[in-house]
Amino acid sequence: VRMTSASPATKTPRWRRVVLKLSGEALAEQSGFGLDTETLHQVASELHEARQEFGVDIAIVVGGGNFWRGLKGTGRGMDQAQADYMGMIATVINGLALQDALERAGQHSRVMTAVEMPKVAEPYIRRRCERHLEKGRIVILAGGTGNPFFTTDTAAALRAAEIEAQAILKGTHSGVDGI
Ligand code: UDP
Repeated sequence: VRMTSASPATKTPRWRRVVLKLSGEALAEQSGFGLDTETLHQVASELHEARQEFGVDIAIVVGGGNFWRGLKGTGRGMDQAQADYMGMIATVINGLALQDALERAGQHSRVMTAVEMPKVAEPYIRRRCERHLEKGRIVILAGGTGNPFFTTDTAAALRAAEIEAQAILKGTHSGVDGI
């Protein structure tokens, strides 16, 4: 695969830097569970195109609802923090799948996680994240905020503020276009 992310942008972007929140369901099979390879491929191609055509910095916060949501476990009597840790790990699975799809689409990317897992992804460090973005890499932010009792929507708002993104876009099945 030829990596092309260093080529110059051809159109003026509306935003210089965005955070895209992708819910787990946005990557799932029809049932809302698991991962759909074709969907991953399509999402990755669109992201690569946006990065190439507009030169916009893209950080993606991935959800994990296609595998596990903490509230589901809590509803069954599980300890909430424990159930939320499971959810955060689910977001790492999605992050790795998305990275694989992006790289197959010819797009450089990095996965950074708030729940440290050094064998599979970099730890989230704001300055390092910004450096990746400046180099034209799409950064996938997994692990949510790293804290139980939150969701990845909160992570998207937090990271957008940290990296001074101009917009948070939400890719979900609930039909929210942007925030
Ligand atoms: N989660 C968490 N802290 C965070 C982000 C996520 O504990 O900062 C857990 C929580 O259990 C959540 C799950 O991870 O339900 C998956 O995230 P989310 O529900 O936001 O996924 P989405 O609905 O976007 O697929």
